[in-house]
Amino acid sequence: MIQDISPSRLNNSWQKTAPQPDSIMMCFCGGELLAAVSDGVPQFPRYRDLTETEKPPVYLFSVDDEAFFLTETAEAFGGYQPFSIRALRDQCSGKYLYAAFTAFHLHQWYADNRFCGICRGEMQHDDRERALVCKACGHKVYPRINPAVIVGVISRGRILITQYRRGYAHNALVAGFTEIGETLEECVRREVMEETGLRVKNIRYYKSQPWGMAQDILTGFFCEADGSDAIKMDDSELRSACWCKPDEITLQPQQHSLTNEMMQLFRDTNGHLPEDIIRTEPDARQTCICFTRHGETTMNVEDHISGVTDCELTENGIAQAKQLAEVCAAHREIGLILCSPLKRARKTAEIIAETLHVPVRTDERLREWDYGSYENQPRSETPDFQAAKREFGVRMKDGGESLLQLAHRVYSCIDDIRRQYAGMTVLCVCHGGVCRIAETYFRDMSTDAFSQFFMGNCELRKYSI
Ligand SMILES: [Zn+2]
Repeated sequence: MIQDISPSRLNNSWQKTAPQPDSIMMCFCGGELLAAVSDGVPQFPRYRDLTETEKPPVYLFSVDDEAFFLTETAEAFGGYQPFSIRALRDQCSGKYLYAAFTAFHLHQWYADNRFCGICRGEMQHDDRERALVCKACGHKVYPRINPAVIVGVISRGRILITQYRRGYAHNALVAGFTEIGETLEECVRREVMEETGLRVKNIRYYKSQPWGMAQDILTGFFCEADGSDAIKMDDSELRSACWCKPDEITLQPQQHSLTNEMMQLFRDTNGHLPEDIIRTEPDARQTCICFTRHGETTMNVEDHISGVTDCELTENGIAQAKQLAEVCAAHREIGLILCSPLKRARKTAEIIAETLHVPVRTDERLREWDYGSYENQPRSETPDFQAAKREFGVRMKDGGESLLQLAHRVYSCIDDIRRQYAGMTVLCVCHGGVCRIAETYFRDMSTDAFSQFFMGNCELRKYSI
């Protein structure tokens, strides 16, 4: 975000100090800031560049060892042009952009408080702190900051994305200003209810954003929909409000804002925010894990042992994958495909994903059993292979995996699916050996049944949890 300028630091404590020739001048000209933009970095005039100012410069803050002062000018000078703060945000980044936003906020506050609200007297700068004091009656005014909330509402692995009817055109979250006498959490509940008709629970503070167009500080919260997640959108405020799965989220064009960061976090964690941010309640819906074996391969046709050896699908294998895609599409419940990194599984998964329009993620743990030096041998010439498969604690010949090692990685993969994708139906596209292990995860199997287990190409097995 714009305020993330570490290792630089903006020090905004007030000081009674006068500008030096090198001091940076935030010169406002008709509400816009004089700057020159070079390679996405704004440059500002120095005190020595100024010929005359209407009013004495006002100390604003410092960034590292550079002091910033506020002044106004009737027209642009010295090659600097007036920029709206929005234009600067769209073109720039870095510590000077953050300085520009902070200067803009203070400039607005000074401009809005030239006269006393009690007696209409003229306000002057206080000597001891950042405040304005009425010359006539002594009424004192401190900088004003408008608190507002941004809310990431979550329901069943989706986040509520909105678009405002006016102003900012890109995707956003529910947002609004805090009322007087309202806690931030109450504001979250009220804004979500007003804009979308949803009740929320489990409200958790995330981060804040101390800059904006409206003299505001934005406070970001994540929470969960409570009860029904049917949206009743407020047409006067919003143009759209809908639940989006992580891969359906379109981010804002700029990376600057808290809203964008929250949407991105939800997208990048695939809807599973870290537990220190929010611990969402487990989904009440059933989790299903389906397993399938890749389509027919060249090595299947030759009857060669294919463990971790890569090989292509045959035309028949591609047709089998397409047929399985139709079967899966008819049930409309698969939300994600996990697949083995081996080519034959990836290709099968891609064919299915194309029909289902769901994401495919590779999980190394779904690769086939490493058969060591049995790899790529004709089955007919390896009579001891079948017996070797029964020895669950012995590694396959010459550097292969043991059955227990295979079970360990496949079980841990299934454990993670249950935890991360609770309430979803996930399809694992993998291999005969992996499907056999998966079967033992869900059902008891004798050693005989285990060694005789067979999974046809693109056969589907479904396990409900
Ligand atoms: Zn007054």
